[in-house]
Amino acid sequence: MSDSLSFILNELGEEHPHGSVATPLYQTSMFAFESVEQMRRALAEETQSYFYTRGNNPTFTALERKLAALEGTEAALLFASGSAAVAAAVMANVEQGSHVVCVQKPYSWTNKLLTKLLARFGVEVSMVDGTRPENFAQAIRPNTRLLYLESPNSFTFELQDIAACVAVARQHGLLTIIDNSYATPLNQRPADMGVDIVVHSASKYIGGHSDVVAGILCCSQAMREKIFSSEYMTLGGVMAPFNAWLLLRGLRTLALRVERVAQTTPKVVDFLARHPKVEAVLYPFHPSHPQYELAKKQMKRPGGMFSFRLRANEMAEVERFCNRLQRFLLACSWGGYESLIFPACTLYGSANYQNPWLDWRLVRVYIGLEDADELIADLRQALECL
Ligand SMILES: *Cc1c(COP(=O)(O)O)cnc(C)c1O
Repeated sequence: MSDSLSFILNELGEEHPHGSVATPLYQTSMFAFESVEQMRRALAEETQSYFYTRGNNPTFTALERKLAALEGTEAALLFASGSAAVAAAVMANVEQGSHVVCVQKPYSWTNKLLTKLLARFGVEVSMVDGTRPENFAQAIRPNTRLLYLESPNSFTFELQDIAACVAVARQHGLLTIIDNSYATPLNQRPADMGVDIVVHSASKYIGGHSDVVAGILCCSQAMREKIFSSEYMTLGGVMAPFNAWLLLRGLRTLALRVERVAQTTPKVVDFLARHPKVEAVLYPFHPSHPQYELAKKQMKRPGGMFSFRLRANEMAEVERFCNRLQRFLLACSWGGYESLIFPACTLYGSANYQNPWLDWRLVRVYIGLEDADELIADLRQALECL
C-alpha cells in the first residue's frame, strides 16, 4: 500500500532525535568522517552520501523523499529557485545542435533560457501552440531532444493534453519536462501520465508563505544522478538547508491550502465572469474556458489563480482599478496566504519582458486564504471606478 497523503506531508523522511517533534534543520556546510576510508567511500558515492551541502544534506533528503512521493517519482532534487531547476532539467538533456519543442508562452525566464541563453550554445527551440498535441508532433526535427510543457501557464492558463503530448514524445524517443507549479502534485501528477521530469517553483504553493525562493525537480533515480553530477554540482544553484526546512513546514498545510482555494477561487471567478465591466475570465475550471473538459480530466481540483480582461479603453483605467483594491497586494509571484494582483500592463515598458502577446487589459489574480466574500466585495468596489 502506498503512503497516505497526510503521512507523506507530515512524517515521511523526518527524524525525531531527543524526541524532537519538529524535524531538525541540518545547518551545516559539510560532514566529517572518522577515517580516510570512510571519507573516500562517501566521496565515491557523492550523489547519495553526505559530504558537502552543495550536494546532499539530511534536511534535503527529508524534503526530497516527500516530493518524490507526492509526484510519484523515484527521486527529487532541490535548487535555489524554480528557474535554477528548470535550467538544470533542460541543460542536462541537450547539447550543442539539439532542438527543443516548447509550449508557447512558458514562464518568462524559461522563455529566456530557451530563446536567449541556450541559443548562445547552439540549442534551437520551436515554440508551439500547445492546445493541439499535433503541433508538437509537427515541430519535431531529427535533432529534437525534448518536449517542454507548462500546463497551465501562469498568465493566460492554456493547457496541454499531457498524456497526448507524452505519447507524441515517446513515439519519437524524446524526453518530456513539465513545469507543474500551478497545479501542485496534489492537483496534477504528470509523472503518472509518463512525463520524465516534473519541475516546480517551490517559491509558490509548496513554500506557501511568501518567504522562500526555491525550486524542485522530480524524476527517476538515474536522471537525478545525471543532473546531480553535472548541472547541480557545477552550476551550484542549490537550496539552503534552512529553506528546505521552511518547505518541510510549508508542506504540512499544503493539502489544506489547496483545498481551501479550490472552494473560494471559483466563487471569485464566477463573480467576475458575470460582471459587466469584465470581458472574459481565463480560468481552466470555468465553463467558458475552451479546455474546461480537459482541465477536469487531468487536474484533480481548481487552482487559486486566474486572469480576467477588463473592459477598459485605456491603461490608466486598469491602473485606477488596481490601485483601488485594498485586499489584494500588487505583487508578482503567488502561492502564499495573501491575495495578490498582477496587471499585465506592468510588463509594458520593461526590457526584460517583451510580451506583445499579453493584452494590457489582462489582470492576474491570485487568491490567498481569505474569505471569498471579502475579496468579492473589494473587487466590486474597485470595479466601480471604471
Ligand atoms: C515563479 C515561476 C517559475 C520560476 O520560479 P522561481 O522560484 O521564481 O525561480 C517557474 N515557473 C513558473 C510557472 C513560475 O510561476
